[in-house]
Amino acid sequence: MEEKYTFNKKKLRLEPIHNSKCEFCSKGFSDNMERNLFADIYKVHDKTNLIVYKSIKFDKIKVGIPRCSSCFVNHYENEVKSWVILIIIAVLISILSFFFSTLLGVFLIIPLAFSTYILQTRLRDYLISKAFIFSPSDGTKKDPNLKSLLTNGWTTTPPSF
Ligand SMILES: [Zn+2]
Repeated sequence: MEEKYTFNKKKLRLEPIHNSKCEFCSKGFSDNMERNLFADIYKVHDKTNLIVYKSIKFDKIKVGIPRCSSCFVNHYENEVKSWVILIIIAVLISILSFFFSTLLGVFLIIPLAFSTYILQTRLRDYLISKAFIFSPSDGTKKDPNLKSLLTNGWTTTPPSF
């Protein structure tokens, strides 16, 4: 595992070595450090769990998932595109409900607002899948180096009690 990464002390992150195979299309190579996908991972240091006092210490670092420039651009564009589409839908619903003087818009806007993040992620992942590459979360999950970190006590979610 060590030779697949170099640790950047200043940015507290594990950087994939130059020219690692892209995890999202399996065709390109990581050629620009800032275009890799960096995911947060955590490791529990010390767990004290008393009745009245709970403390948890953990390390948090970023781990780089190799991503080629083409996948970086695709992820970025579809992130923007999915937000734009959702905003247009929200505006259309507002305008339509205004013209028809109905409460329909209100009933649609509220669930839309609550589920915006989920909708945006779904829409983004759908747009990305049309280019036959993995979404940011799917590509991250299948990264073999991240998998080996996860079996060594690291987690992708902050440790909780
Ligand atoms: Zn790629």
